Amino acid sequence: MPSLRLANLIDGRLQAPHLDRWLEVFEPATGEVFAHCPDSTAEDVADAVAAAQRASSAWAATPTEQRARLLHRLADLIEARLDAFAALESRDSGKLLSLARSLDIPRAVSNLRYFAAAVVPWSSESHAMELGAINYTLRQPLGVVGCISPWNLPLYLFTWKIAPALAAGNTVVAKPSEITPCTAALLGELSIEAGFPPGVLNIVQGRGPIVGQAIVEHAGVKAVSFTGSTKTGAQIATAAAPHFKKLSLELGGKNPAIVFADADLSDANLDTIVRSGFANQGEICLCGSRLLVQRTIYDNFRARYLERVRALRVGDPLDASSDLGALVSQPHFDKVMGCIAQARDEGGHILCGGQSITLPGRHAGGWYVAPTVIEGLGPNTATNQQEIFGPVVSLIPFEDEAEALAIANGTGYGLAASLWTTDLARAHRFGAQLDFGIVWINCWLLRDLRTPFGGTKQSGLGREGGVEALRFFTEPKNICIRY
Ligand code: NAD
Repeated sequence: MPSLRLANLIDGRLQAPHLDRWLEVFEPATGEVFAHCPDSTAEDVADAVAAAQRASSAWAATPTEQRARLLHRLADLIEARLDAFAALESRDSGKLLSLARSLDIPRAVSNLRYFAAAVVPWSSESHAMELGAINYTLRQPLGVVGCISPWNLPLYLFTWKIAPALAAGNTVVAKPSEITPCTAALLGELSIEAGFPPGVLNIVQGRGPIVGQAIVEHAGVKAVSFTGSTKTGAQIATAAAPHFKKLSLELGGKNPAIVFADADLSDANLDTIVRSGFANQGEICLCGSRLLVQRTIYDNFRARYLERVRALRVGDPLDASSDLGALVSQPHFDKVMGCIAQARDEGGHILCGGQSITLPGRHAGGWYVAPTVIEGLGPNTATNQQEIFGPVVSLIPFEDEAEALAIANGTGYGLAASLWTTDLARAHRFGAQLDFGIVWINCWLLRDLRTPFGGTKQSGLGREGGVEALRFFTEPKNICIRY
C-alpha cells in the first residue's frame, strides 16, 4: 500500500509545506511507516496566520447560528465516515479500533455538536446600578487563536479545542501532534466540504519546537490553547509571557485512585478500577497510575485486582479480543520500559507484567507492553511521582483518611482523582480536600461536556469545557451606560 501523504490546510486549500520536507508517521502496531506528514516551518505558520487574519472579521460577524450550522455539518461529515476515521485513528496511534470507534471519534463528533449548540443560547452578564447606570459584558472573539494538541486522543482533543474557538467567532491555526497527524488532516479536508470559508480553520502539521513554537510566538496569534506535557507547557508559558497572550494549559498528571475499605467492590466497579489504570494502554491523562488501597482490604483487593489485570490481552489493535493495543511510538515505548526498570531499581516488586511483548507476524515490530502492577514503593519514589503515561500502576496501601489524603495530594500534579467509598459524608469531605481539578466518586471518566475540565499545580492553568471554553476564547469587555 502506498504511503499516505498528508497536507496542510491553509486558506481553504490543501497545501504541501514550503520546504517540501516530510516527517515519517509510524503505525505503532507494526513499527512501520505508513504515512508522511508535512514538516512545516515558521513560514507555513505565517501563511496560516495571515489567512486567519484575513478571514477574522467576516467570521466574527457571521451570525452565531450560521457558525453553529457549519460545525454541525462538519460533525455530520465525520460521523458519516466514522469507520474510516476510527480505522485511521487506530492505525496512527496504536489504540484499539473498538476504542476509537466507541470513544475517540464519537466524542470528536460530540465536541463539535456540543459547542455548536452551546454557543447559540450563550449570553453574558449585566449589572444594574441603583444610581442609574447599567453595565453589560460584551464577549468578543479574540481574533486568531492557536490550538495545539497531543497524540493520545488525537481527534478527540483536537476538536475539543477548535470547536469552542470557532463557535465563539475566532479563526484558528491548529497543530495536531506530528506523531498522530492523520485524523486532523482528514478533518481539514472535510472542513472544506462542510463549507467553512477559507482561512477560518487552518491546520499546520509539523514538529512542536518548530511549528508549535512559531504559533505561540507569532504576534498575530492572540491566545493559545495547549494540551500536552508539563515540560512543553512550561516552554509555551515562557514563550508566550512577553506577548501577554491568553493561555490555557492542560498538562500531565499522576492521578490517584483511592479505594476505601467500605467501597462497593462489585465486579463492575472493579472492572472500572482496572480500566482506570489500563484503558488506552494507560495513555490517557486521566488514568489512575497510583492505586491507593486501605490496608484492611489490601490483600483481598490485590488478589482480585491482579486476577483481572493478568487476564487483559495485549494484541493487534484491530482484533476485537484485544484489551490493550500498542504504545504510540518507539521513544514512548523506551520511556515506559525505562520507568519499569527504574521501579525495579527503586526496590519495587513487579506483581505482574513488567516486560515488553512481541506479537507474531507483521506485528513483530510493534511497541507492546504488558500491563504492569508494582507494589512496595513509597509515595515519594520517582515511580510514584513522575508521569509514566503507560500501562503501569503502582499499588500503595494506606491506614486511614488522613494518610490517604497526604499521599494522594503529595505530588506536583493535580489533574484527576477517583475515590471509591460508600460513605457519603466521607465522599464529600474527602472530595473537597483533594487538590485536583477533577474528582470522580465511584466512577471514572464519566464526562459531561458542560463541566469545567482541567488541573491544578503542574497539571495546568485554566479550564476547558462548557462555558469555560467559550469564556477563554472571548475577551470580556465591560460597557457602562449612565442614564
Ligand atoms: P507534548 O508536550 O510532547 O506535545 C504536545 C503538542 O505540543 C504536540 O502537538 C507537539 O508537537 C507540541 N509541541 C511540542 N513542543 C512544543 C513547543 N516547544 N512549542 C509548542 N508546541 C510544542 O505532549 P505529548 O507527548 O504529545 O502528549 C502527552 C502528554 O499530554 C502527557 O503529559 C499527558 O498527560 C498530556 N495530556 C494532558 C491532557 C489534559 O487534558 N491535561 C490530555 C491529554 C494529554
